[in-house]
Amino acid sequence: MRDLITMDDLSNDEIIEILDSAERLLPVAMGEIYAPLLQGKVLGNLFFENSTRTRMSFESAMKRLGGEVVNLSSVGSSVAKGETLYDTMQMVDGYSDIAVIRHPRQGAAQYSADAVEIPILNAGDGAGNHPTQTMLDLFTIRQAHGTLEDLNIVLVGDLRFGRTTHSLSHALVRFGTKLTLVSPETLRMPNEIVRDLQSHGVDVTETEDLASTITEADVIYMTRIQKERFPDEDEYAKVAGVYKMTAEDLSGAKSNMIVMHPLPRVNEIHPSVDETAHACYFKQAFNGVPTRMALLCRSLGVDVPKEVGE
Ligand code: ASP
Repeated sequence: MRDLITMDDLSNDEIIEILDSAERLLPVAMGEIYAPLLQGKVLGNLFFENSTRTRMSFESAMKRLGGEVVNLSSVGSSVAKGETLYDTMQMVDGYSDIAVIRHPRQGAAQYSADAVEIPILNAGDGAGNHPTQTMLDLFTIRQAHGTLEDLNIVLVGDLRFGRTTHSLSHALVRFGTKLTLVSPETLRMPNEIVRDLQSHGVDVTETEDLASTITEADVIYMTRIQKERFPDEDEYAKVAGVYKMTAEDLSGAKSNMIVMHPLPRVNEIHPSVDETAHACYFKQAFNGVPTRMALLCRSLGVDVPKEVGE
């Protein structure tokens, strides 16, 4: 069974293999070559929470590989009539060969995987994990720095509810990355995750001060404060806008430092940063296509040839 629920489902060797496949699939992702590796396969795209990039890049990945996509969202489906996730998944099992699921409840992806025969890819379960995002983040980091090892990576923002940082930090420490976690006190990375990160023997530092981390960083990974996870508006208002990066803030950065963001951004990154050589978030979003192509192929048991398109 080739589910992807958390990064624990992949060994380091498998991660590298998938990134290598994604690299070979880049010309397909860009529409330069047509390689119908997934012809005749159907992807179920199940989104019970909002999505732009994950949903569209999975759809684009599937279509560029010759596959088909069926969509479900909580609006316009029987979910609104009260159908259970278990029952919905029974339909998906019959209508598609593989499914991608995003759900507001932590654990929903594992629950879905247990309920069906087809492979399930977790596209975000509440404040839990987002492993396909992590794979495209790793792809982007490797593309920029040529390695995943011994880098100095700064994760910034809502580390409490931000599922992208939970999965990413877990993967990075396995490659020996030094991590600096920047957040307000109330949005610190959960203790159990920090303990897990430290157990890998790498250097993990926590601070509230973004400015002090910029000159040493190889990657600064900004995140949005996860408004929808806050119990009330007042609590959100206390931390909204706590980190706002401008181009000027980056004047002391290393020349090859990249700024990443899983997007959508609210006000964490000022548009002036877009004009700098550090801005990498739009490329990162595009990288969702080749990376998700590689993940779809892996879960469907389809080898990506050494020479794609030949
Ligand atoms: N798009 C990412 C996610 O679904 C990040 C975010 O929404 O802030 O987790």
